[in-house]
Amino acid sequence: MIRLLCFDLDDTLIDRRGALRRALAADFTAAELRWLEAADGATFAEAAAARFPERVPDGDALPARIAAAVTPTIGVASMLQQLRLRFTLALVSDGGAANQREKLRRAGLAGAFDAVFISGERGVTKPALLGLALGELGVPADQAVMIGDAPLRDIAAAAEVGARSCWIAAGRIWPASLPPPDWSIPDVLALPPLLP
Ligand SMILES: [Mg+2]
Repeated sequence: MIRLLCFDLDDTLIDRRGALRRALAADFTAAELRWLEAADGATFAEAAAARFPERVPDGDALPARIAAAVTPTIGVASMLQQLRLRFTLALVSDGGAANQREKLRRAGLAGAFDAVFISGERGVTKPALLGLALGELGVPADQAVMIGDAPLRDIAAAAEVGARSCWIAAGRIWPASLPPPDWSIPDVLALPPLLP
Protein backbone atom coordinates (compact mmCIF):
# COMPACT_ATOMS: atom_id res chain seq x y z
CA MET A 1 0.00 0.00 0.00
CA ILE A 2 1.21 3.49 -0.83
CA ARG A 3 0.10 6.27 1.51
CA LEU A 4 2.66 9.04 1.08
CA LEU A 5 4.05 10.76 -2.02
CA CYS A 6 7.22 12.81 -1.46
CA PHE A 7 8.02 15.23 -4.26
CA ASP A 8 11.27 16.93 -5.13
CA LEU A 9 10.74 20.53 -6.37
CA ASP A 10 13.43 21.64 -8.86
CA ASP A 11 13.08 20.03 -12.30
CA THR A 12 10.42 17.72 -10.87
CA LEU A 13 7.40 19.95 -10.17
CA ILE A 14 8.89 23.13 -11.63
CA ASP A 15 11.06 23.80 -14.68
CA ARG A 16 14.16 25.09 -12.93
CA ARG A 17 16.26 24.91 -16.12
CA GLY A 18 13.77 27.13 -17.93
CA ALA A 19 13.76 29.55 -15.00
CA LEU A 20 17.57 29.65 -15.02
CA ARG A 21 17.61 30.46 -18.74
CA ARG A 22 14.95 33.17 -18.37
CA ALA A 23 16.65 34.69 -15.33
CA LEU A 24 20.06 34.96 -16.95
CA ALA A 25 19.34 35.36 -20.67
CA ALA A 26 19.73 39.14 -20.62
CA ASP A 27 23.17 39.13 -18.99
CA PHE A 28 24.91 36.11 -20.52
CA THR A 29 25.69 34.87 -24.02
CA ALA A 30 24.29 31.58 -25.32
CA ALA A 31 27.63 29.84 -24.72
CA GLU A 32 27.83 31.22 -21.19
CA LEU A 33 24.26 30.09 -20.54
CA ARG A 34 25.23 26.57 -21.61
CA TRP A 35 28.14 26.68 -19.16
CA LEU A 36 25.83 27.88 -16.39
CA GLU A 37 23.27 25.17 -17.14
CA ALA A 38 25.97 22.50 -17.04
CA ALA A 39 27.28 23.91 -13.73
CA ASP A 40 23.81 23.87 -12.15
CA GLY A 41 23.76 21.78 -9.00
CA ALA A 42 24.64 21.90 -5.35
CA THR A 43 27.57 24.32 -5.78
CA PHE A 44 26.04 26.28 -8.66
CA ALA A 45 26.02 29.73 -7.06
CA GLU A 46 29.65 29.45 -5.97
CA ALA A 47 30.78 28.11 -9.35
CA ALA A 48 28.94 30.85 -11.23
CA ALA A 49 30.33 33.60 -8.99
CA ALA A 50 33.85 32.26 -9.47
CA ARG A 51 33.48 32.03 -13.27
CA PHE A 52 31.74 35.41 -13.74
CA PRO A 53 32.77 37.56 -10.77
CA GLU A 54 31.90 40.80 -12.59
CA ARG A 55 28.33 39.71 -13.35
CA VAL A 56 27.61 37.54 -10.30
CA PRO A 57 28.96 39.69 -7.46
CA ASP A 58 27.06 37.82 -4.78
CA GLY A 59 26.54 34.07 -5.10
CA ASP A 60 23.26 34.26 -3.20
CA ALA A 61 21.78 36.69 -5.73
CA LEU A 62 21.75 34.05 -8.46
CA PRO A 63 19.44 31.47 -6.81
CA ALA A 64 17.10 34.35 -5.91
CA ARG A 65 16.96 35.50 -9.55
CA ILE A 66 16.20 31.94 -10.66
CA ALA A 67 13.45 31.63 -8.05
CA ALA A 68 11.91 34.89 -9.26
CA ALA A 69 11.77 33.52 -12.82
CA VAL A 70 9.77 30.37 -11.95
CA THR A 71 6.40 30.01 -13.67
CA PRO A 72 3.67 27.40 -13.13
CA THR A 73 3.94 24.21 -15.19
CA ILE A 74 0.57 23.52 -16.80
CA GLY A 75 -1.20 20.57 -15.21
CA VAL A 76 0.99 20.14 -12.12
CA ALA A 77 -1.23 21.93 -9.58
CA SER A 78 -4.37 20.07 -10.72
CA MET A 79 -2.52 16.74 -10.73
CA LEU A 80 -1.44 17.31 -7.12
CA GLN A 81 -4.99 18.32 -6.19
CA GLN A 82 -6.28 15.00 -7.57
CA LEU A 83 -3.53 12.94 -5.94
CA ARG A 84 -4.19 14.61 -2.60
CA LEU A 85 -7.64 13.04 -2.51
CA ARG A 86 -5.96 9.61 -2.23
CA PHE A 87 -2.49 10.19 -0.76
CA THR A 88 -0.66 12.35 1.75
CA LEU A 89 1.57 14.74 -0.20
CA ALA A 90 4.90 16.07 1.04
CA LEU A 91 7.42 18.37 -0.59
CA VAL A 92 10.99 17.25 0.17
CA SER A 93 13.43 19.74 -1.32
CA ASP A 94 17.04 20.74 -0.81
CA GLY A 95 17.54 24.49 -1.04
CA GLY A 96 17.37 27.80 0.77
CA ALA A 97 14.18 28.54 2.68
CA ALA A 98 13.29 31.86 1.04
CA ASN A 99 14.07 30.75 -2.51
CA GLN A 100 12.22 27.42 -2.31
CA ARG A 101 9.17 29.12 -0.74
CA GLU A 102 9.26 31.75 -3.50
CA LYS A 103 9.40 29.02 -6.17
CA LEU A 104 6.39 27.26 -4.60
CA ARG A 105 4.46 30.53 -4.53
CA ARG A 106 5.29 31.43 -8.14
CA ALA A 107 4.46 27.90 -9.31
CA GLY A 108 1.05 28.11 -7.62
CA LEU A 109 1.94 25.21 -5.32
CA ALA A 110 2.22 26.94 -1.94
CA GLY A 111 -0.87 25.19 -0.59
CA ALA A 112 -0.52 21.94 -2.54
CA PHE A 113 1.07 19.79 0.20
CA ASP A 114 0.14 18.31 3.54
CA ALA A 115 3.68 18.99 4.75
CA VAL A 116 6.71 20.85 3.40
CA PHE A 117 10.29 19.82 4.17
CA ILE A 118 12.93 22.26 2.88
CA SER A 119 16.55 21.62 3.86
CA GLY A 120 17.13 25.32 4.58
CA GLU A 121 14.35 25.21 7.18
CA ARG A 122 15.12 21.80 8.68
CA GLY A 123 18.91 21.87 8.85
CA VAL A 124 19.41 18.56 7.02
CA THR A 125 19.51 17.58 3.33
CA LYS A 126 18.34 14.39 1.58
CA PRO A 127 18.44 11.54 2.47
CA ALA A 128 18.16 12.67 6.12
CA LEU A 129 15.45 15.18 5.12
CA LEU A 130 13.39 12.37 3.59
CA GLY A 131 13.83 10.27 6.73
CA LEU A 132 12.67 13.25 8.77
CA ALA A 133 9.55 13.61 6.60
CA LEU A 134 8.64 9.94 7.08
CA GLY A 135 9.14 10.20 10.83
CA GLU A 136 7.18 13.42 11.22
CA LEU A 137 4.28 12.12 9.12
CA GLY A 138 4.37 8.72 10.83
CA VAL A 139 4.44 6.76 7.57
CA PRO A 140 6.51 3.54 7.29
CA ALA A 141 9.15 3.88 4.55
CA ASP A 142 7.71 1.03 2.47
CA GLN A 143 4.44 2.98 2.18
CA ALA A 144 6.17 6.04 0.70
CA VAL A 145 7.38 6.96 -2.78
CA MET A 146 10.02 9.62 -3.48
CA ILE A 147 9.51 11.29 -6.85
CA GLY A 148 12.43 13.26 -8.26
CA ASP A 149 14.83 13.98 -11.11
CA ALA A 150 18.18 13.49 -9.34
CA PRO A 151 19.59 9.93 -9.44
CA LEU A 152 21.57 10.37 -6.21
CA ARG A 153 19.75 13.04 -4.25
CA ASP A 154 16.25 11.67 -4.91
CA ILE A 155 16.42 8.03 -6.03
CA ALA A 156 19.41 6.75 -4.07
CA ALA A 157 18.11 8.73 -1.08
CA ALA A 158 14.81 6.84 -1.29
CA ALA A 159 16.63 3.51 -1.33
CA GLU A 160 18.71 4.61 1.64
CA VAL A 161 15.65 5.19 3.83
CA GLY A 162 13.74 2.17 2.45
CA ALA A 163 11.17 4.10 0.41
CA ARG A 164 10.16 3.38 -3.16
CA SER A 165 11.25 5.74 -5.92
CA CYS A 166 10.05 7.23 -9.17
CA TRP A 167 12.60 8.92 -11.42
CA ILE A 168 11.77 11.84 -13.70
CA ALA A 169 13.89 10.82 -16.67
CA ALA A 170 13.37 13.98 -18.76
CA GLY A 171 14.95 12.35 -21.80
CA ARG A 172 17.97 10.98 -19.92
CA ILE A 173 19.15 7.38 -19.59
CA TRP A 174 19.46 5.95 -16.08
CA PRO A 175 23.15 5.77 -14.99
CA ALA A 176 24.12 2.11 -15.24
CA SER A 177 26.37 2.33 -12.18
CA LEU A 178 23.41 2.95 -9.84
CA PRO A 179 20.63 0.62 -8.65
CA PRO A 180 17.58 1.50 -10.76
CA PRO A 181 14.49 3.32 -9.46
CA ASP A 182 11.23 1.40 -8.97
CA TRP A 183 9.61 3.46 -11.73
CA SER A 184 10.84 5.82 -14.45
CA ILE A 185 8.58 8.34 -16.14
CA PRO A 186 9.32 11.00 -18.77
CA ASP A 187 7.86 13.83 -16.66
CA VAL A 188 5.87 14.19 -13.48
CA LEU A 189 2.50 14.38 -15.24
CA ALA A 190 2.93 10.67 -16.11
CA LEU A 191 2.80 9.74 -12.41
CA PRO A 192 -0.95 9.21 -11.68
CA PRO A 193 -1.50 6.14 -13.92
CA LEU A 194 1.36 4.31 -12.13
CA LEU A 195 -0.21 4.59 -8.72
CA PRO A 196 -2.60 1.93 -7.36
MG1 LIG B 1 15.44 18.22 -8.56
